[in-house]
Amino acid sequence: MELVVVTRDAEHTFALATRVAELLRAGDVLALSGDLGAGKTVFAKGVGRALGVTTPVVSPTFTVVREYPCTGAARRMVHADVYRLDHVQELHDIGWDDLLDDESIVVVEWGDRVAGALPADRLDIHLELGAASGGADDERTVSFSPSGMSWAARADALAATVAAVSEA
Ligand code: ADP
Ligand code: MG
Repeated sequence: MELVVVTRDAEHTFALATRVAELLRAGDVLALSGDLGAGKTVFAKGVGRALGVTTPVVSPTFTVVREYPCTGAARRMVHADVYRLDHVQELHDIGWDDLLDDESIVVVEWGDRVAGALPADRLDIHLELGAASGGADDERTVSFSPSGMSWAARADALAATVAAVSEA
């Protein structure tokens, strides 16, 4: 199943992320993919907002991983950006497997590059510059690909959320 929404600006992508994050549970993993500037970090910030992260969510490009305490569905949000990694092994070296626990919600930018280090049960989100029909510079096409049992159970809710944001 694939669900697609075109967002018109950064605020719309942020709002989309907050709505999708309302479906999240501790233990969830979101893998964000798409070009530089597509809006992966904007999306992660929206997730942070919905999870009750109070400190600013900033791009983890240079640190690879940042952790934020949450008051929402999980105890912490783990926000990673694996763009600068040359090899998946580097992720394991920084203790990645301990970060993927039942109390965390994990958001990985460029997650498609380290899919082997992610659980099969996850939500893949691809952001692309522009819309299929051309359109304005600020448009982004955001596609959701849920995998695994836990997402099968939430498929209808995810579809409803995407439809609602699409019309908003
Ligand atoms: P990435 O993490 O994918 O490299 P960022 O989220 O850091 O991208 O940056 C996205 C940039 O594009 C921001 O400057 C944001 O303001 C801008 N932007 C414009 N339109 C959108 C949109 N529809 N969704 C997300 N970001 C957008
Ligand atoms: Mg980014």
